[in-house]
Amino acid sequence: MNEELVRPAVKDIPDYVPGKSAPGAIKLSSNENPFGPSPKALRAIAKAGKGLQAYPDQMSINLRQALASRFKLPVESFICGNGADDILQIIGETYIKAGDEVIVSKNVFSVYELIARLYDGELVFVPLRDFELDLNAIAAAVTPKTKIIFLTNPNNPTGTIFSASQFDAFMKIIPESVLVVVDEAYAEFSASKDFPKTIDYVKSGAKVLVIRTFSKYYGLAGLRAGYCIGRPELIAPMFKTKMPFNVNRLAQAGAIAALGDSVFLKKTYQNNLTEKTRLYREFESLGLEYKESEANFILVNIKRPAKDFCQELIGLGVSVRPLTSFGFPEAIRISIGTPTQNKKLIAALKKAL
Ligand SMILES: *Cc1c(COP(=O)(O)O)cnc(C)c1O
Repeated sequence: MNEELVRPAVKDIPDYVPGKSAPGAIKLSSNENPFGPSPKALRAIAKAGKGLQAYPDQMSINLRQALASRFKLPVESFICGNGADDILQIIGETYIKAGDEVIVSKNVFSVYELIARLYDGELVFVPLRDFELDLNAIAAAVTPKTKIIFLTNPNNPTGTIFSASQFDAFMKIIPESVLVVVDEAYAEFSASKDFPKTIDYVKSGAKVLVIRTFSKYYGLAGLRAGYCIGRPELIAPMFKTKMPFNVNRLAQAGAIAALGDSVFLKKTYQNNLTEKTRLYREFESLGLEYKESEANFILVNIKRPAKDFCQELIGLGVSVRPLTSFGFPEAIRISIGTPTQNKKLIAALKKAL
């Protein structure tokens, strides 16, 4: 009976597969901040809790002002969401109509596909090339029906980036009619001088939307706060489709405080860089192939069934992500942890291999 009630598009939506938490195991499966939440955010959240009888500000004005001064853009260039996922849904709700072509890379973060399906878009998948987004092939897939292109930089689960010059060349050939969405959930971790300055495109009025989140770098995945940056004419209609109180009081207060927690952010950045190189060396000595990453995780080719391997690692006290649901049945994604966590990870890997 339900079968007849449910929209056809909904039936085709695959289940979202999250990174596993296992009791007693270190969680390196969801790219969370290994140091926990920003301490400044925690204090602000406790204080904001005293006002929880009241609805939050539906415009998230204080948070947007904090972001506006950070990025030197007008406040109208920002909209906040209940995580970056909420932003993706708001983009879908605002911009995708039935039959619009939506270009998504294959074997990446699954929410773009989910959103395209939810709004009856026509999915166009473009394969990765050597585990990297293939901007040339994506540009070649554009047709007069293309509405949105979803890009991820750095990419999840491969950790790779496309460079500023690659993005410049790409933007030159993408028609004005296409909306380019760049999900930069991990941008803060990148140390690359070649990382594209997407904000400059926003400033120059391009049809680009940039997505960021407080879930990864700022350590607030459980709080749910993300935002989108775009020229005001692109952002304004998104305020009509978002649910009125989509960002709760604790999230607004916590996110503002986290933005200013420079000690915590520096520690996060530095640890990620140092531990990343250490993990590369360890993988090399274990004979494991990996992809160099600009994010807080590393894709490792283990050349054996990833699901069983990850289950075994859980038994050894560490949870990492099998990339089976991403279409890489023999690869895993390891979130970079603290020095102590990474030592345990390496010990577990040695045993399991
Ligand atoms: C984690 C992640 C998100 C989701 O972020 P939330 O703010 O927690 O919803 C979005 N995009 C990518 C690529 C991610 O890896």
